[in-house]
Amino acid sequence: MNSISLQYSCFDLVLKHEFKISDYSRTSTPIVFVALHLNGIIGYGEASMPPYLGESHETALKFLKKINLPSLSGPSELNSYLNSVDTGNYAIKAAIDIAYHDALAKSLEIPLYQYFNSPSSVSPPSSFTLGIASQKELRQKIQDAEPFQRIKIKLGSDDDRALVSFIRSLTEKEILVDANRAYHDREAALRLIDFLATQNCLLVEQPMPVNRLEDSLWLYDRSPLPIFADESCKTSDDFENIKDCFHGINIKLMKSTGLFGGQQLIKAARQHQKKIMIGCMSESSCGILAAASIASQCDFADLDSPWMVTNNPFENPQLVDGSIHVSMSPGLGLKWRVPSLFAD
Ligand code: MG
Repeated sequence: MNSISLQYSCFDLVLKHEFKISDYSRTSTPIVFVALHLNGIIGYGEASMPPYLGESHETALKFLKKINLPSLSGPSELNSYLNSVDTGNYAIKAAIDIAYHDALAKSLEIPLYQYFNSPSSVSPPSSFTLGIASQKELRQKIQDAEPFQRIKIKLGSDDDRALVSFIRSLTEKEILVDANRAYHDREAALRLIDFLATQNCLLVEQPMPVNRLEDSLWLYDRSPLPIFADESCKTSDDFENIKDCFHGINIKLMKSTGLFGGQQLIKAARQHQKKIMIGCMSESSCGILAAASIASQCDFADLDSPWMVTNNPFENPQLVDGSIHVSMSPGLGLKWRVPSLFAD
């Protein structure tokens, strides 16, 4: 009989720079770290909860209080159990799922990427995200992006063409574009994408609002760049609804309720010949190393958050030529930079 118990700790991950997207800004992100004890082995997980998504320390603690982990046969059963406890709560479900996978791989004494049969321990080159910022701030952020091969820019500013042209004057790096639902006029969105296609941009994420699938389909048929779903696609259930309207999807563990859900999305996307990005919220090394364990199954990576925060409680992942190299240690390979938040 497996013995499983949970500990948890609330945390605020502080950003180096205020983060602005088209409709929102913040300076820190509420996190809940989870330690899952499985037959004497401890696995760690993380819930990152940007406020606009509706989860918080309070909702996570409320969910955790309802948890009474049964003896589990594996990740699929854990996923079913967590979904039976309550709907929503994607990030805190992800924290428990990640911690369980960390413990499972540690018990097998293999790195997590091997547990998933990922083809490599190296991620695709990660982008480094520049939020919407002043020209002075953008110059600084471009310098911060130096270790990365690609940058991701957030659109929805007053003048997106001028923003892109300004960034192009500072760097020749390939650009991933994220519009975060900023466009309400599909013709205007297409004109902008036509321009972006001339600026060494590789793809455009979520140009239209979540439920405007007709407009996304219209763009899908006309866009010179691949259109990716982010906010429109959290889980594999969403994927079924949006798959004909996008060329690819951005998988985030905090949306997919963790690694089990992430693997389901990868499988579904591949069955439909869709491209895959693996992305993140503002996460510590814990969430990022979890995502990195399946990143080599994906086409693009956007796993930059440990390099954007001031108080990551773990050592940063290894970054080589802009790609994350996962640890060869069992599980996630996390190393505390501070004393463990779960000290006895
Ligand atoms: Mg996005």
